[in-house]
Amino acid sequence: MPSSENSVNILHVAVIGAGASGLLTARELRREGHKVVVFDKGDEVGGTWVYTTQVETDLLGLDQNRDTVHSSAYESLRTNLPREAMSFRDFPFVPLRDPRRHPDRREVLMYLQEFAREFDIEELVRFGTEVVSVEQVVDGGKLWNVKSKRKGLDGDGGCIEDNVTFDAVVICCGNFSEPRIAQFAGFNSWPGKQMHSHNYRTPEAFKDQVIVLIGLSSSAKDLSIEISEVAKEVHIAARSVSDDTCEKMPGKDNIWINSMIESAHEDGKVVFRNGAAIFVDTIIHCTGYKYHYPFLKTNGIVTVDDNRVGPLYKHVFPPRLAPWLSFVGIPLKANAFPAFELQSKWVAAVLSNRVVLPSQEDMMEDVNTFYSMLEASGVPKCYTHSADAKPDYCNWLAAQCRCPGFEEWRVKIYQEALKNASIRPCSYRDEWEDEHLILQAREDFSKYTS
Ligand code: FAD
Repeated sequence: MPSSENSVNILHVAVIGAGASGLLTARELRREGHKVVVFDKGDEVGGTWVYTTQVETDLLGLDQNRDTVHSSAYESLRTNLPREAMSFRDFPFVPLRDPRRHPDRREVLMYLQEFAREFDIEELVRFGTEVVSVEQVVDGGKLWNVKSKRKGLDGDGGCIEDNVTFDAVVICCGNFSEPRIAQFAGFNSWPGKQMHSHNYRTPEAFKDQVIVLIGLSSSAKDLSIEISEVAKEVHIAARSVSDDTCEKMPGKDNIWINSMIESAHEDGKVVFRNGAAIFVDTIIHCTGYKYHYPFLKTNGIVTVDDNRVGPLYKHVFPPRLAPWLSFVGIPLKANAFPAFELQSKWVAAVLSNRVVLPSQEDMMEDVNTFYSMLEASGVPKCYTHSADAKPDYCNWLAAQCRCPGFEEWRVKIYQEALKNASIRPCSYRDEWEDEHLILQAREDFSKYTS
């Protein structure tokens, strides 16, 4: 049990998920001396990087009773960030089997597997075990009940249920599995096929079709380029461009960037805000994901409201339940791997009492100030976790853990990568101009590899 201030706590901690966040968290918790159990409903470490050809029974993800699939990886997926930027601090992402700077999904999975092996994480993981409920044993108390179910080994479809009490729970279950869908007039009556990018794997099914992809994120760009190789026409419908936009993607003859869909009709026609009207076979929603924690029962203390998980102090601790409940992996549009590494260090250090959180009231005040700042700047609630995940946030986390902030090369490589992807949407993974930064990163890595 937690002890008084300044003495070191050794806790029994549950980590939900064995993707990048969960692996990092398990490592940091164990480094601090905690006893750790990691639950993962999958059969191997790696989370979203564990590719499967399987897709969900409802391709839009609207049916809450559908058979779900965790991974959103598609066959041809390569990283959108250079490997140096994604690299963990003391475990460089050096080439394993795909030496490219933006390697394929197999290479990332292998990196995470190597990480798990190096730090003996696999022995902590209960694979094939889905957490179905996380709840405080006594309201306001500090113990947590974690209920899980594991597929029976006898093959009769039965489940083995388990119920274990922990001092603390860290939620690392990933945030790229529950589709967010765009709405437009005629959504329900339009007769074509609609799906979410979560269920996209390969382009063959779209041969000779006219496709609309909604969104202008990296998955919308990747999918549109790949599908354009087999489809007749590809149209991107984007909310973020002006209403009169209708232009070809540079270097591509059959990809158009349009403003958002105005309406879709029973005869199969789709009309854009720019006035263009086309007959469409398939609409793919590349519109991101919802934060989704169906197992979490906090009596309304932590909620997901318009994709804001809150209230959370610095996207990690709910003030009223801190430090016994925490989240690693929530920030979006961040340099995810190293940001999650710092979050996990912070959580582990706070749980062992090496680092002390502000009072509940002060954390709540900080959260409210942050929300007011977002509102004053016109940032919609649904972008709460995209707005703050910049180097300053990571350096703040590092300062809490008393470790060095982001290396200068890492910040610059990340910024250059974003710039490069917008200048060269079709070729940024194989062409760049920041060679000098790669050399700086390698020099840094040599401390760990030589
Ligand atoms: P995940 O990898 O999703 O892992 C979560 C784990 O939790 C899974 O193993 C899952 O089985 C388990 N789990 C979930 N619910 C339960 C439950 N109830 N019980 C038990 N286990 C559970 N980031 C980059 O830095 N660079 C990139 O190039 C990049 N490309 C991406 C491409 C795609 C298509 C997607 C979807 C994401 C990409 N990302 C990229 C972001 C990526 O998600 C993060 O980098 C990171 O892998 C997320 O790790 P995670 O551990 O938080 O979540």
